[in-house]
Amino acid sequence: MQCVSCLKPVTQNELLTCTACKLHLHYRCANYTSADFREHKDSLKKSFMCGSCTQITRRYRNDNTPISKAQPSKMLKSPGPQLDIEKSPNHTPKQLTYEEVSNLLDTKLKDEIPKILTSLITSQKKELEDIKVNFKEIQQSNSNIENNIALLTTQNEELRRKL
Ligand SMILES: [Zn+2]
Ligand SMILES: [Zn+2]
Repeated sequence: MQCVSCLKPVTQNELLTCTACKLHLHYRCANYTSADFREHKDSLKKSFMCGSCTQITRRYRNDNTPISKAQPSKMLKSPGPQLDIEKSPNHTPKQLTYEEVSNLLDTKLKDEIPKILTSLITSQKKELEDIKVNFKEIQQSNSNIENNIALLTTQNEELRRKL
C-alpha cells in the first residue's frame, strides 16, 4: 500500500483509508497526530475521508449553506414574536388576574373537592342502596309471581280433576 499524499509505503499501524475513494494515507499525512489517531482509530476507520473527498463534501455543504443561512435569518426574524411578548406587559395585569383567579379556583377546589367527593360517594352509596332495595323488591315480586303461578297451576290441576 502506498500513501497518496507522500507516495511512501503505509503500514497497517499508520493506515487511514478514505471511506469515499478508498485511497490510503498515513494518518500523519491526513494531519492527525498519533494520539488523535489512536483515540479515534475505530471511528476514523469507519468514517475517515481524505482531503479531496472532504473538499467535495464541503462543496456540497456550501451548496446547502443558503438553507443553513436561511435558518439563522429565521432565527433573526424570531425577535418578532419576542417583541409581541415585550408588548404584552400591557396585558400582564390580565395574566396576573388569571393567575389569581386560578389560584382562587385552586384553593376553592381544594376545599370543594373533598365535599364533592364525599357527596359523590354518599350519593353513589344511596344509589347502591336504592338498587339493593329495588333488587330485593324485584326478588320479592318475582317470588310472589312464582307463588301465584304455583297457585294457578294447582288450581288448574284441581279444575282439570273436577272436569
Ligand atoms: Zn503519507
Ligand atoms: Zn477520498
